[in-house]
Amino acid sequence: MTHALKSFFAGHWRDANGPAYETHYPADGSVVAHLHAATIGDVDEAVQSAEKARHHPSWASLKRHERAAMLYRIAAGIRDQAEALAQLQRLDNGKPINETRALVASAAGTFQFFGAACETWEDQLTPPRGDFITMSVHEPLGVVGAITPWNSPIASEAQKIAPALAAGCAVVIKPAEITPRMALELARIAQQAGVPDGVLSVLPGKGSVVGDALVRHPLIKRIAFTGGTDVGLGIQHLAAQKLMPTSLELGGKSPTIVCADADLDHAVAGILYGIFSSSGESCIAGSRAFVHASVYTEFKKRLLAGVRALRVGDPADERTQMGPLIHNRHRAEVERYVQLGLSEGGQLLHGGGRPTGTVYERGSYYLPTVIEGLPNTARMCQEEIFGPVLALLPWHSEQDLLDQCHDNAYGLAAGIWTQDYKTAWRLGSALQTGTVWINTYKVFSISTPFGGMKMSGMGREKGRQGILEYTHQKSFYWGLNANPMPWATPF
Ligand code: NAD
Repeated sequence: MTHALKSFFAGHWRDANGPAYETHYPADGSVVAHLHAATIGDVDEAVQSAEKARHHPSWASLKRHERAAMLYRIAAGIRDQAEALAQLQRLDNGKPINETRALVASAAGTFQFFGAACETWEDQLTPPRGDFITMSVHEPLGVVGAITPWNSPIASEAQKIAPALAAGCAVVIKPAEITPRMALELARIAQQAGVPDGVLSVLPGKGSVVGDALVRHPLIKRIAFTGGTDVGLGIQHLAAQKLMPTSLELGGKSPTIVCADADLDHAVAGILYGIFSSSGESCIAGSRAFVHASVYTEFKKRLLAGVRALRVGDPADERTQMGPLIHNRHRAEVERYVQLGLSEGGQLLHGGGRPTGTVYERGSYYLPTVIEGLPNTARMCQEEIFGPVLALLPWHSEQDLLDQCHDNAYGLAAGIWTQDYKTAWRLGSALQTGTVWINTYKVFSISTPFGGMKMSGMGREKGRQGILEYTHQKSFYWGLNANPMPWATPF
């Protein structure tokens, strides 16, 4: 069924002023939604309304526990409509239904967590060093621009909207042009939960128009961005012009390490999940598997048995593990990388093409692909593919392993498979990544901060500290002097 979507401007649903466009279901190319893209003028209107709304007593005078109550109502609203939201998310980006259900549950948990963090977060009374009382309080930064990608919309959007509202900010969100649906649904639920008009607006449209206008707008006081590294660098460059804080959750080329003593069945299951779930369209995809030379052959045998058993197919089918890629242009990009890897000397162990059969004919499907024999310096091992492509690389010594892991621009995440806690700690401490998973992979908890090092980004989302990213800190000194200040006291 095709939907006509409206944008959400300060409590009102209407067409934006830019060109009409359609979004498509990646599994069969059918039209999912019609809508209008926003314009630079629309951005200005939404930001001006947000600036007014954030000062209005209906928002600005709420106590933290009252804001928290709104966030709890949003969490409940998401849970009430969880199945419908999961189905809509599946239509937006073609992820298998089991994954979209998990994303929806995680979005509800995010609002609940930040509700709890909002009503329990405390400002500080700092130790005074004179005749005064000192305190440090956090105030909302102002209007926040949130910019999100297409791969996990409801989760990425919740991770920005929830802490920003918890902090008392107003938010203008620009979802990916091709996956506008979840941000609009979150706005509808937030409106029903009592979030005042103007505190949240949703403007789908092009990054180079709507995203760029948000970043440049003088009333936008922070950008929370998730997306590719090149776009993130451009945003950071513009943000520097107005000394605007940003959080940048960017790309990755994450290594997963199999040690000689690893439980190979656990490692195989974790590595398969790490790279092939979400069809590899995941910033934390474990796309380079470094396997100790002593277990390489056995690991490869078990891995390939696991890859052959993966079920690629209809995202609506609950048994499906891998759905289609987001669209044919992206599939062509993945195919180009695989060809490049093979031309650089890689040997194809599995996949390397499109699945055949009627179910796959109209969707942008691609097989799980495993390649070995490439040096870590090959472009296929250096650049983010954002698809279901795994490079297998042997390692011999820890130094050689760490050198290879670090010889990469990114630093988002890593996995270690070992039965020795000392090895795990030594390697985990040495790895230059924002997250290290030990004997597990791609599991998340909203209470644990997430973010990247190196070209994978800066700033952290999630965790109690996540709220503070949307505040500025103000210090107060309360004088207790019984007499005038001595320096200027006339005698
Ligand atoms: P993208 O960078 O092309 O787009 C992300 C968002 O930025 C979209 O909303 C897009 O419209 C907008 N945008 C594009 N150009 C812009 C500009 N000039 N100014 C402002 N906004 C602009 O990324 P994508 O293709 O949608 O998503 C894939 C990328 O996202 C991958 O690199 C992936 O690793 C990354 N990602 C990172 C994380 C993380 O948490 N680190 C999570 C998911 C995805």
